[in-house]
Amino acid sequence: MNVNPITDPTLRVALVTGSTSGIGAAIARKLNHAGYAVVLHSRSSAETGRAMAAEMKQAIYVQADLSSEADRVRLVGEAIAAWGQLDVLVNNAGISKVIPHADLAAATSAVWHELHEVNVVAPFHLVALAESALRDAALRRRAGCVVNISSHAGVRPKGASIPYAVSKAALNHMTRLLALSLGPDIRVNAVAPGLVDTPLTADWTAAQALWRERAPMHRAASPDDIAHAVAMLVASDYLTGEVLLSDGGLNLT
Ligand code: NAD
Repeated sequence: MNVNPITDPTLRVALVTGSTSGIGAAIARKLNHAGYAVVLHSRSSAETGRAMAAEMKQAIYVQADLSSEADRVRLVGEAIAAWGQLDVLVNNAGISKVIPHADLAAATSAVWHELHEVNVVAPFHLVALAESALRDAALRRRAGCVVNISSHAGVRPKGASIPYAVSKAALNHMTRLLALSLGPDIRVNAVAPGLVDTPLTADWTAAQALWRERAPMHRAASPDDIAHAVAMLVASDYLTGEVLLSDGGLNLT
């Protein structure tokens, strides 16, 4: 860790939620390689987070449970306090529940509320908390930038469960609504991955076979593929309100 609180006009700071594993870790590493100071975050695995921060050039780690409003406030506060600014917020943290779509009884109210809180309410609240800092980024010549990690399940009638797919569809719509409300000071985009090889999907053998056999790219995405799409959106100063489907072309079949 090498924290430099002295204002540097070239400094850009990114907060990546859920960034100690899977897609979030790849995004954090990609942005750090691109010169961003990075705020790493996860719900648990604080030791991994601190070790990752120590390996990176300019990085800190903050633990926070995004289902808690107080933790969300603390996370954004600590992220901004680290370097006195925040230029990019990547809402990557998310939870899933595998429930067959026809099993309506298994999709209980508790499941709906849990997924909605972490996948929809938390990303919105984090943007609201970071809004002022992200608007300040525009004063330093580049608009503030939000990238939400949603899912192809929020675009097509697919996915681990109906509550999960609906939460990601809500996140996609929120992306467009916020882009309209927050421009030109803040750009808001989403990446909607198909299947990605992460610990979360390690035993999703049917989905893995589907991507191998049917997707034009004949494979699932790597976390780095998704990080690349995120970095592209972060670097594209004119793009806002886009939901970038990143599924290896499976939606064409
Ligand atoms: P992952 O389980 O490796 O990472 C999820 C991260 O979210 C973890 O770091 C975890 O700490 C964090 N998180 C979950 N609940 C939290 C909470 N209450 N408070 C704070 N942090 C919390 O999974 P992943 O596959 O890397 O998923 C990252 C994102 O990509 C998620 O939003 C997921 O829905 C989305 N996604 C994944 C796939 C895939 O195939 N893996 C496909 C489409 C979309």
